[in-house]
Amino acid sequence: MTTLKQQVSLADYNTLRIDACAAWFCRIDSKAALISLLRTPAVTEKGGILVIGGGSNLVLTRDFPGLVLLNAIKGIDVVHQDSDSVMVSVGGGENWDAFVAYSLSQGWAGLENLSAIPGTVGAAPIQNIGAYGVELKDCLVSVSTVELVSGQVRQFDRQECEFGYRDSIFKKAEKDKHIITSVTFRLDKRPTLKLNYGEIRSEMDASRISEKELTPVQLRQLISTIRARKLPDPKVTPNVGSFFKNPVIGKKQLQTILESFPDLVYFPATDNDDVKLAAGWMIDRLGWKGKVLGMARVHSRQALVLTVREGHCEDLLTLAKSIQKDVSAHFGVVLEIEPRIV
Ligand SMILES: Cc1cc2nc3c(=O)[nH]c(=O)nc-3n(C[C@H](O)[C@H](O)[C@H](O)COP(=O)(O)OP(=O)(O)OC[C@H]3O[C@@H](n4cnc5c(N)ncnc54)[C@H](O)[C@@H]3O)c2cc1C
Repeated sequence: MTTLKQQVSLADYNTLRIDACAAWFCRIDSKAALISLLRTPAVTEKGGILVIGGGSNLVLTRDFPGLVLLNAIKGIDVVHQDSDSVMVSVGGGENWDAFVAYSLSQGWAGLENLSAIPGTVGAAPIQNIGAYGVELKDCLVSVSTVELVSGQVRQFDRQECEFGYRDSIFKKAEKDKHIITSVTFRLDKRPTLKLNYGEIRSEMDASRISEKELTPVQLRQLISTIRARKLPDPKVTPNVGSFFKNPVIGKKQLQTILESFPDLVYFPATDNDDVKLAAGWMIDRLGWKGKVLGMARVHSRQALVLTVREGHCEDLLTLAKSIQKDVSAHFGVVLEIEPRIV
């Protein structure tokens, strides 16, 4: 049974620990309960709906006047399997990293590079989570949703999700229209490991593991170690991971920037001829690492991460704006904010 609560603090439901208040709040444990809730007219008239998973990609700037739905729909079901692969459907409220660990324990590979990313399975398609050369879309088959207005069940295959770099249809045409109830993945029983990104190879050398003997589980451990070294734990230091997306620009603009910054760090963009600039490098180059503004600060080990004390989101947003202005003035590129600002 679902219980609607009133005037609930969201401090425990977002990793910045911002103490915004939801006028209405409901934890959703099953699709059936969700549909029945959405078909109650008094509920849909409550001034808007905000879906929350782990709250690790959210900046709450004010109290929410409507209904917050906490997605807690669980379940991991094998839909189909053969000798090469398995298709598995996972409840949107499952913890992402726990599912990655579970899949590897079953001998299903593909998600190991996405280890140690906070949040839920249901939120992962929203921004097509990515890390260490892999994006969610590489293993995703389809997404099941319930439409918030109608309570209708919908399914989006991979192409319909319109995935891009930290982007999907759920951030564009279908923004705020659905709650993702489950995600179906195709995972490999015969893994092909992706090792050519970031510090994976140097970590392998340090751990004296050769490419030939490396297993997906070991790769998960290596990546978790690298991440723990570089990123602050949100339970200790409130943050939402990367605060800015890496800007994607054309080759011509790249040449112009290289004239002033020959040591600029950039990578090929995945889908076309463009390049992706390392936003963290640019922020660091302008001297922002470790800088403090009121209760907000640029993390001392990772310039892309902004941290905040005591939920002061005004200071956080002022700091973000100052960084955007400085990067635009020096590099001529716009830094887009990655987390959802509510
Ligand atoms: C330390 C740290 C490291 C991180 N590293 C990475 C990284 O390497 N790569 C990366 O891509 N991201 C990273 N992130 C960002 C974040 O973990 C991901 O975006 C994650 O998918 C967010 O999941 P969540 O459940 O916390 O979503 P929330 O923050 O709860 O929600 C994010 C957005 O999705 C919507 N939403 C959530 N669940 C649903 C649902 N079931 N249906 C519909 N809409 C929904 C919300 O309304 C909101 O707009 C990091 C964050 C932190 C704190």
